[in-house]
Amino acid sequence: MPKITLKKIIKALKNLALGWTPGGSFKCNICQNNVWGFTKYRDGFRVESMDALGFVNGSPETFACPRCGCHDRERHLVLFFEASKISEKFTKSKILHFAPEHHLSQWINSLSPSEYILCDLNPKSKKIEKINIEEIPYPEKHFDFVIANHVLEHVNDDFRALSEIRRVLKIGGQAILQTPFSSAITSTWSDPGIASENERLHAYGQEDHVRLYGRDIFNRFSNSGLASRKKTHTELLGNINCAPYGIGEEEPLFLFERID
Ligand SMILES: [Zn+2]
Repeated sequence: MPKITLKKIIKALKNLALGWTPGGSFKCNICQNNVWGFTKYRDGFRVESMDALGFVNGSPETFACPRCGCHDRERHLVLFFEASKISEKFTKSKILHFAPEHHLSQWINSLSPSEYILCDLNPKSKKIEKINIEEIPYPEKHFDFVIANHVLEHVNDDFRALSEIRRVLKIGGQAILQTPFSSAITSTWSDPGIASENERLHAYGQEDHVRLYGRDIFNRFSNSGLASRKKTHTELLGNINCAPYGIGEEEPLFLFERID
């Protein structure tokens, strides 16, 4: 039986108050409930170096839905997919989804793709295939979509991963590759001397990130041969008041397409 701790009790009470008290000016577009707010990532823990470098990494202040537990990055992608009409294209498509988020994958499944492969380097469920993104065990031009939401910042050889994503995509197939980046630095940066979890936390924003992407991120991803189809938040969602959904307007849709 899972251990009941004071921390867990406080969290449950907070979720109860924010999520189940009638009313609320925030809205979760995944569970469709009105709530009084979203809970903070890691109880509001901030990395000062990342704040100073304009780290675009979702909305840690409005992270989880107190009702369904979905994360801001899932709410944002669902809004992006609906506004761009990518959601309509998911129906009858072949989709490969890395590190599949629980609520987002359920939502995609409801759109009836013809093939929907959930995968992870370290799968935690039997429904998830064990796949290394640097060596994808599928033939060339197999998928219509590849989704890797907050994955590439953890991958040692991101160029190899991107080449593999391109290889398994059909011509005209698209990849959705949301990735945190610094809006301040011009060039993606890493240093082999940064090895401990604490060093990576302060240099790259999280203990298990392996680099800090900069403003060159779209060019860098395109070097794999994928064409950038990036859309800003304003381009896709500028006509919607997104404040109630608790999502960050700095984050664009990282959309890439295989063109040859
Ligand atoms: Zn929800």
